[in-house]
Amino acid sequence: MTANRGSLIIVSAPSGAGKSSLISALIEALGTNRVQVSVSHTTRAPRPGEIDGQHYHFVSHQEFHALIEQGVFFEYAEVFGHYYGTSCQAIEQQLNNGIDVMLDIDWQGAQQIRKQVNDSVSVFILPPSSAELESRLRNRGQDSDEIIAGRMAKAQAEMSHFNEYDYIIVNDNFEHALADMRNVVASARLRLAGQLQRHKVMLNELLAEGV
Ligand code: 5GP
Repeated sequence: MTANRGSLIIVSAPSGAGKSSLISALIEALGTNRVQVSVSHTTRAPRPGEIDGQHYHFVSHQEFHALIEQGVFFEYAEVFGHYYGTSCQAIEQQLNNGIDVMLDIDWQGAQQIRKQVNDSVSVFILPPSSAELESRLRNRGQDSDEIIAGRMAKAQAEMSHFNEYDYIIVNDNFEHALADMRNVVASARLRLAGQLQRHKVMLNELLAEGV
């Protein structure tokens, strides 16, 4: 294991819980030399404003399946009709440089990562209530009730897995939720395995015979 390897932090949430804003604010607060977010591959089309290589690597179904065959993905899943995957390349370099990597992935990806990485840390972000979630999912009144009901059903399907996670953050107040996220990242850094690597010399000195 590389000395001072970063932590892998899984972050899942239903759409409307504020996950992307919290991750961006956390990176802004801590700096990209402390924490970064992994850029996934997806077969879904870019939304307005999304940049290829920055928000996602946008690929066709055919390309995605070729990447699966090549063993490129650390985890991948079909999420509501589109494929999403985390490549090994998207995380290895940062982890080896001691940078914590956040994985913005769904519950299926989280299950796969937990099986492979014993010391990964997982966080689930919840909205404070169904009413609040629904109001966040209504895009300025432009979407039909049917579309909103579909989004709520998807959100509930994701939320039904909350109890598989190490930490639960309720995003009622953004600043409080951000502080909670910072605490999770800080706790991950203080875990024994990482501290043993980071402070090897100091621990040898402290525990040397005769001291
Ligand atoms: P969106 O299309 O709204 O960006 O993302 C839809 C869902 O896919 C979100 O729950 C997001 O966390 C999840 N997702 C994004 N990237 C990945 C990935 O690489 N792997 C998995 N398993 N889920 C992902």
